[in-house]
Amino acid sequence: MGVSFMEMIRGCFYNFKRFGGRRMDAKDLALLCLGCPNPFCERFCPAGNHIAEMNERIKSGDLKGASEILYSTNPFPEITSSVCDHERQCLRCVKGIKGEPVHVPQIEASLASSFPRDLDKKQNCGKKAALIGAGIANLSAAWFLSKGGWAVDIFEKDGTLGGAIVTGIPSFRFDKTPLQGIEHDLSSLGVRFHYRTEIGKQTPLSSLLGGYDAVLASLGAGKDNPGPFAPRKGIIPGLNLLRAYNEEKATFPEYSSCFVWGGGNVAMDCARALRRLGKKVTVIYRRSQKEMPANECEVLQAQQEGVSFLFLHNVSDVVAKEDGSLKALKVIAMELGEKDESGRASFHPIPDSESQIPCDLLV
Ligand code: SF4
Repeated sequence: MGVSFMEMIRGCFYNFKRFGGRRMDAKDLALLCLGCPNPFCERFCPAGNHIAEMNERIKSGDLKGASEILYSTNPFPEITSSVCDHERQCLRCVKGIKGEPVHVPQIEASLASSFPRDLDKKQNCGKKAALIGAGIANLSAAWFLSKGGWAVDIFEKDGTLGGAIVTGIPSFRFDKTPLQGIEHDLSSLGVRFHYRTEIGKQTPLSSLLGGYDAVLASLGAGKDNPGPFAPRKGIIPGLNLLRAYNEEKATFPEYSSCFVWGGGNVAMDCARALRRLGKKVTVIYRRSQKEMPANECEVLQAQQEGVSFLFLHNVSDVVAKEDGSLKALKVIAMELGEKDESGRASFHPIPDSESQIPCDLLV
């Protein structure tokens, strides 16, 4: 059977790896695991998943037991197997030092699709928790608390659960339908969702503090750029742009020549979203392509979709028109130096290299 272009790209990252003419299943993949005593995959997993133990259980043929190990630390593997930063987390497997890492996300996705979450819970313990925000952190907290017998209320200012993975990741990169199953399972455990309820506005925080045994606020860490790059006409923070694109179906008709400043996955999402709206899009990044923090797959797809890249350049200032809208970017060429504390090459401005580029939107 032929392999499509998309499969070729994804194949680079082992998502659609073939094995004897068929796709590898969880056992095929787990058999590649060395069962390291000091597993790198676990060291970099922010959920603390017991990956080596899970793989050993799969190797022994106990897939259900493996799924229980997975769910014991991570109630939503159908989400994390898709949206986590795998290349910097579980794919830092020792086997990747000389060859291909064990593809842990695919193992997790396979277990999640074969074994549903166990909806048994302890008896009501008489405790109540209020969770502010329905992002993935609080959904996870709601899962473990309600399984432990707590009564849980979630207060969310938007009209749906998921938080940043809904508002900040475009549908072309992440299928959001699993969230319906998560809402169903949490509701089955008795979790109550209070949508369009912003704590501090409709409901004072003091009312929660008095009425619950515990209050947990997981609100994200959004922070706008200061100074000349503060949001205004022609300058939109990346997450604001994605929220408008995802939630409001904004098309930004006033902008045609767009620059996305940065080299991470949010930058790639913004660039690819703007391309889908027919804009001319250039990503400007201060290092070279090799140092980009975005997943290589996302960069390849952005290039394939017509996004241009201006590497080794940084934005130093903006030039505004009389009406305050954006006229141009001032950019400066960069050169790379020794590695810095991030492990990537440091970057330094090249003297007298500043130039201006016409631009009407900076993200
Ligand atoms: S680092 Fe790789 S080989 Fe070692 S336990 Fe983790 S998945 Fe297995």
